[in-house]
Amino acid sequence: MWADFEALSAIGSIGDGGVNRPSLSTAHLAARNWFASRIHDSGLELRIDSAGNHSAFLACDQPGAKTLLLGSHLDSVPHGGRYDGALGVLAAFEVLRVVKEMGERLLLHLEAIDFTDEEGTLVGELGSLAVAGNLREESLHSPRGGRAALVEGLARAGLSEAGLLAARRDPTSLAGYLELHIEQGKRLLNTSSKIGIVTAIVGITSCRVIFTGQADHAGTTALLDQRNALRGAAHFAIGFWEKLEQDFSRCVGNIGNLQVIPGVFNIVPERVEISVELRAPDISLLTRLEEMVNELSHRMAERFQLGVSVEWLDRAEPVQMDRIFQDVIVNACRDLGFAFQHMASYAGHDAQALASICPVGMIFVPSVGGYSHSPREYTDWQDCVNGANVLLEATLRLARGDLG
Ligand SMILES: [Zn+2]
Repeated sequence: MWADFEALSAIGSIGDGGVNRPSLSTAHLAARNWFASRIHDSGLELRIDSAGNHSAFLACDQPGAKTLLLGSHLDSVPHGGRYDGALGVLAAFEVLRVVKEMGERLLLHLEAIDFTDEEGTLVGELGSLAVAGNLREESLHSPRGGRAALVEGLARAGLSEAGLLAARRDPTSLAGYLELHIEQGKRLLNTSSKIGIVTAIVGITSCRVIFTGQADHAGTTALLDQRNALRGAAHFAIGFWEKLEQDFSRCVGNIGNLQVIPGVFNIVPERVEISVELRAPDISLLTRLEEMVNELSHRMAERFQLGVSVEWLDRAEPVQMDRIFQDVIVNACRDLGFAFQHMASYAGHDAQALASICPVGMIFVPSVGGYSHSPREYTDWQDCVNGANVLLEATLRLARGDLG
């Protein structure tokens, strides 16, 4: 697993410990080709579905057996870390290789899957939503990464929108989904637990707030006469952070990008597009956050005599992890002697998309410094191995029908 991790980390490497493998980029497709060749070398079956999801498959000999999915994603955020997603795919792959070597007769087929576009460079949880049958055509028409990027990426990968929409699996064929992932926060480090057992994944919603004013000569137009879209956007941003701090301690929000148009020294900005993302552990809080963004943006538009529109993009509801799967992971930790704790995930994961069609569970390992979506992302290799062993134990319990 270490050799594979090193080889994979070199694909899309940006030289400072990080990787740049946005979904369906050349580097991401190179990582997928590498994964396909490793599956071939392992003697496991390679499967690629019409959403581009790449899998290693290990069949059991039980008639009518269901499939237990294990996996994560090989795409990264732009200039991201080596562990996010990659660890989960490689650990799942390693579990299949170990089970194959053991030669034990199990009750479930096992599949180690790399889901397309988990990170949302294009759509977000694209491959897992497709498998769950919950990919909506509207998401493809106005994806958060922009329509052009999606069309280009699909062409580069030889995929089609029709294929994405046809990748749904029969839920009765699935026994569940287990994912190992780095925590991406500091809670495990702060409590010295080795393993986090995820109870729920926060809901995530995103929107584009667009302020429109008027482009004018920046020298001759007095401040009071300006309809400056950036001025409204700046006050919106400050108000947004203040509201988060004061009223939403259990939630998180981010302003990740401002597009200022025309974006030059000597013209008053006519239009500003703001990318906003919101996360909350339950649905009522998520709705309150959305209301806050709507209210604040309209208030700032009025104050600075601007037009405003708020375009809501995809909303992923908060989801609960399966109780039995959580207990199976607890028992795996006890068997292996690892201190563990239950925790919510503030990051989105493919498990979220799959929870609507099958039981799901997630295993977290500590992130040094809590860094993620950054080249500083780091997890001790022993923790990666611990997590993989918990994944293996939990998989064996589920695939033996031993849930006690
Ligand atoms: Zn991830």
